[in-house]
Amino acid sequence: MWREWEVAKKIRETDDVVTFVVKRIDDRLVKSSLPGQYVTVRMMMPDGVPQPRQYSLTRADDGESRQFSVKRVRGFGIEPAGEMSTLLHESVDVGDIVTTSLPYGDVVLDDAGRPVVFATAGIGIAPAAGMLSHLVKAGSGLHITLLHGDLDEASFPLRRQVVTDVLESRHAEVYAWYEKGAETMEPLNGVFQGRMDLEDVDLPDDALYYMCGPLPFMQGVRTKLLERGVAPEDIQYEVFGPDLWQADLD
Ligand SMILES: Cc1cc2nc3c(=O)[nH]c(=O)nc-3n(C[C@H](O)[C@H](O)[C@H](O)COP(=O)(O)OP(=O)(O)OC[C@H]3O[C@@H](n4cnc5c(N)ncnc54)[C@H](O)[C@@H]3O)c2cc1C
Repeated sequence: MWREWEVAKKIRETDDVVTFVVKRIDDRLVKSSLPGQYVTVRMMMPDGVPQPRQYSLTRADDGESRQFSVKRVRGFGIEPAGEMSTLLHESVDVGDIVTTSLPYGDVVLDDAGRPVVFATAGIGIAPAAGMLSHLVKAGSGLHITLLHGDLDEASFPLRRQVVTDVLESRHAEVYAWYEKGAETMEPLNGVFQGRMDLEDVDLPDDALYYMCGPLPFMQGVRTKLLERGVAPEDIQYEVFGPDLWQADLD
């Protein structure tokens, strides 16, 4: 189940998020992931105890490598900094070996052939970036709408990758909401000031929705979608854990 990989790239996305590309170091087949799945990363902690944490795969498989993105959980008041995310940010670099599980997870892209809408905030972009990457790599003609909320453009993790994928798809649109102001250097389809408001955009009929972000964000988006008549079973969401988002909510 566990497999070792070499870190091939460590890419700084934002002040708080880095992306790791890890490459296989043996000849075993790299088992395919479904779009939206995650791997468990297992690391030896400084106290000598191995710990597991989950990270969404943020790019479609290429048979050689896996990509995941890690938000650093900073200490906050009496709460300590996150153990694994701090270790990955500070101590793991290109050339190091990391251990991951096979891909897991049930929140995966449906193959029903319906339009897809992603509603994400902060590091919640991670599973959506993976799903979008799969759709683009497959040459999908599905209509894709990516809605993302963040503090500002500089805080939007994986922004270059998802904007590039949206442009390549030609059936995709991306809209952003930035709390600090509606400024962008990217060719987005729309950018708005403040928190995500679904009234700002036209959404396709009969879409399937995938959400990831802080719980209050997902609850708010889900409520709005239900008010618009979207069926509950057409809304899926990935929960990263209740504590990860604290800094995003201040
Ligand atoms: C399915 C899934 C997918 C995920 N995908 C991603 C992803 O793509 N990218 C990503 O960045 N994260 C992702 N996560 C979250 C990730 O797995 C980790 O939870 C995250 O990186 C934090 O781990 P950590 O070891 O740094 O923090 P931890 O050490 O586990 O700490 C977490 C929180 O608990 C608090 N805490 C710890 N100990 C104490 C204590 N004694 N008293 C009070 N508070 C304490 C910390 O201050 C922190 O706020 C995902 C989670 C799941 C379940």
